[in-house]
Amino acid sequence: MAAIASVQEKYMKEALKQARKALALGEVPIGCVIVYEGKIIGRGYNRRNTDKNTLSHAEITAIRKASRFIGDWRLEGCTLYVTLEPCQMCAGAIIQARIPEVVMGCMNPKAGCGGSVLNILEMPQFNHQATVTRGILEEECSGILKEFFSDLRIRNKAERQQSKEQQPISADCSKE
Ligand SMILES: [Zn+2]
Repeated sequence: MAAIASVQEKYMKEALKQARKALALGEVPIGCVIVYEGKIIGRGYNRRNTDKNTLSHAEITAIRKASRFIGDWRLEGCTLYVTLEPCQMCAGAIIQARIPEVVMGCMNPKAGCGGSVLNILEMPQFNHQATVTRGILEEECSGILKEFFSDLRIRNKAERQQSKEQQPISADCSKE
């Protein structure tokens, strides 16, 4: 059990490295890697704003790359590691790609579809279900998100303050 946990932590650290790439771009820091036979065959990080594309989630990019490597849309025998619980689109893509194993860092109570809002990954009604492990390096995975959002709040507040200061002293002068 300890050996499995250390392997999972090792690859989650790689997913966190991807999340930091998103952070460097000013994107919500979410990262993903896909592992096949002990080798990372797909990496991805959130680039939604940079690409101006809703499909640019970490998991979708990693799935695209892994499929190119395997030469098949089926990613059987692969394990997907993601720092944040997948959304409905990514959980759907994971099931569509037949990925048998998903390891996630922290949960996303308001939008996650790996057990929070929905559990698309483990629905018995679908023809495929993934085995899910939750909470691997949870603190690091949620910590990087918390940092991002707290910095964003500080930046937004500073910008609001600045725009207030730039306003004319008498804002009502146009009414006179
Ligand atoms: Zn997603």
